[in-house]
Amino acid sequence: MTTLRHIFDVNAARIVPTRESRKNVRFSALSPAERENLLSSYHPDYKAGAYREIRAGANKGGRTVSELADLLESDSPLDPGMSLVPDHTTDLLVIGGGGAGCTAALIAHRLGIRAMIATKLRLGDSNTVMAEGGVQAAVGEDDSPVEHFKDAVRGGHHKNDRNLLRVLVEDGPEAMLWLCEQGVLFDREPDGRLRVKPGG
Ligand SMILES: Cc1cc2nc3c(=O)[nH]c(=O)nc-3n(C[C@H](O)[C@H](O)[C@H](O)COP(=O)(O)OP(=O)(O)OC[C@H]3O[C@@H](n4cnc5c(N)ncnc54)[C@H](O)[C@@H]3O)c2cc1C
Repeated sequence: MTTLRHIFDVNAARIVPTRESRKNVRFSALSPAERENLLSSYHPDYKAGAYREIRAGANKGGRTVSELADLLESDSPLDPGMSLVPDHTTDLLVIGGGGAGCTAALIAHRLGIRAMIATKLRLGDSNTVMAEGGVQAAVGEDDSPVEHFKDAVRGGHHKNDRNLLRVLVEDGPEAMLWLCEQGVLFDREPDGRLRVKPGG
């Protein structure tokens, strides 16, 4: 029977002896023809004609996936004779009804701004309702925005935009409070406190 241990041993026997020599191998860039040949020979999802040249428009001569090229070359689905009198008017048009869009519209509304959301599908049909892993915000008793900042800088290998990160860690607890006040249902401990776990 092939066990995981067996697979690891076989792989180690193949990989370890050649590791040093492979570290110094430098591969040159493939030409488009070599790339096409490699993909068509070995890629399991290779589809001939997946890319083609765009024949018209600002990107004429460029190559892209055939579906996008078809779309770029097609006539507009809008009726050229359509009325340009707007059906609705608003002070603020928010495109998208996920967490960001709904928050923007709610805050605008409370500031007395007439806001309207235009969204694909139904309101709330978004990535936001699928998020279930957790929210990175320093709301734990032994946590703080400073600790959050330090953790995120380490996790980001010191490449983070520190000004943006500062906004995230400083606004995080207040944003959580605001979401709770709006009635967002977060996991809670039996005593009602928010359930907190270390972020990864
Ligand atoms: C399965 C899953 C799990 C996740 N888990 C986590 C997690 O644990 N923690 C975390 O922090 N993040 C998580 N994320 C990421 C997080 O959900 C997103 O980063 C966040 O919800 C983005 O919010 P948003 O409002 O910007 O976008 P969305 O929530 O995606 O909202 C975008 C809105 O725009 C609409 N829209 C799109 N195109 C158009 C268009 N052409 N015209 C009009 N409307 C349009 C959509 O219908 C939608 O309503 C997860 C994402 C997924 C998919």
